Amino acid sequence: MIRTLFLAAALLAGSFALAAEPASEVATLYAPHRGEDGFFNPWEPFDWSLSRFLRWQFSRNPFDKSREPAIPRVANDGARLAGREHSATVTWVGHATVAVHDDDDVFLTDPHWSERALVPRRVVPPGVPLERVPPDAFAVISHNHYDHLDAGTVERLPDTVAWFVPLGLADWFRERGRTRVVELDWWESAQHGRWTITCLPSQHWSRRIEQGVNESLWCAWLVRSEERRYFFAGDTGYFPGFAEYGRRFGPIDVALLPIGAYEPRWFMRYQHMNPEDVVRATAELRAGHMVAIHWGTFDLTDEPLDLPPQALREAVTAAGADAERFRVLAVGETFHVPTRAKLAARVADAPLADRLSGGDGRD
Ligand code: ZN
Ligand code: ZN
Repeated sequence: MIRTLFLAAALLAGSFALAAEPASEVATLYAPHRGEDGFFNPWEPFDWSLSRFLRWQFSRNPFDKSREPAIPRVANDGARLAGREHSATVTWVGHATVAVHDDDDVFLTDPHWSERALVPRRVVPPGVPLERVPPDAFAVISHNHYDHLDAGTVERLPDTVAWFVPLGLADWFRERGRTRVVELDWWESAQHGRWTITCLPSQHWSRRIEQGVNESLWCAWLVRSEERRYFFAGDTGYFPGFAEYGRRFGPIDVALLPIGAYEPRWFMRYQHMNPEDVVRATAELRAGHMVAIHWGTFDLTDEPLDLPPQALREAVTAAGADAERFRVLAVGETFHVPTRAKLAARVADAPLADRLSGGDGRD
């Protein structure tokens, strides 16, 4: 019965016939994901338990973190955000916060400008002043963890900013006087000017002081126009979603993918990708470029804060992938998004894209 429901959901979504993964695995991406204990990931529910968390907290960290991490930062006064971009740029503000400037539109991912993510202190100041965010910007939120959803930032940004959030977070914004908020379930889309903004499954979980475990949903976002497609993974482990998104929505111009907070693997694997996972996800998404996020800002896990870029370089080399495709920016640095013609050539040439299944690449 359950399986029949999954298949029906997948067929309705038009995804079954061309599925790259075993049908049942892809179908679970479209399956119901809310139960009595809140939201869950139907393809592989997370065994969140306090005892596992405590086991990690009380275990010895095998990494030496006595040295100050070296996190690159470049000066960026953010003045460009007020103007019109010749084509498109992506600026890393720090952690999961990116300012995408496409023509004369600006959008933010998980905006966080505060000094702390609840407890962990910011190691490098934000790359762009918050005051430079234009009043007509919009923002996407991946989930309610403190390094992604920051009350201080939400309250400081102009109240004209439009917010796109997963299920269970709209009231949180309204309580803070933010009325321009659109709450979406996985696979739902909203229109904002020339942008189609789609909420997609990610492999994660949620909790903060005022919300219990998995009370609100977590997600990735696809933000696309006629000209360009951006994918923001939020926080996620490696899961079958990437291949499905590449098949349905690829090629992606820029994928903003988390590369940090992955050790120890026995505890983090489910919820955070490591660099090997990121290389695989980039290929499966058919992303012309990935831009690294979720490192170098808040010290959350066992590995040193400046290790992820080095580990990513090693993973790219080991996979024989095109290093140009993997962009690790300094805080405040801007990446100029190449034209679509260059994107097509890059994705077509990429050796890791070979094993991806067909489809015409259009949704
Ligand atoms: Zn998280
Ligand atoms: Zn995070």
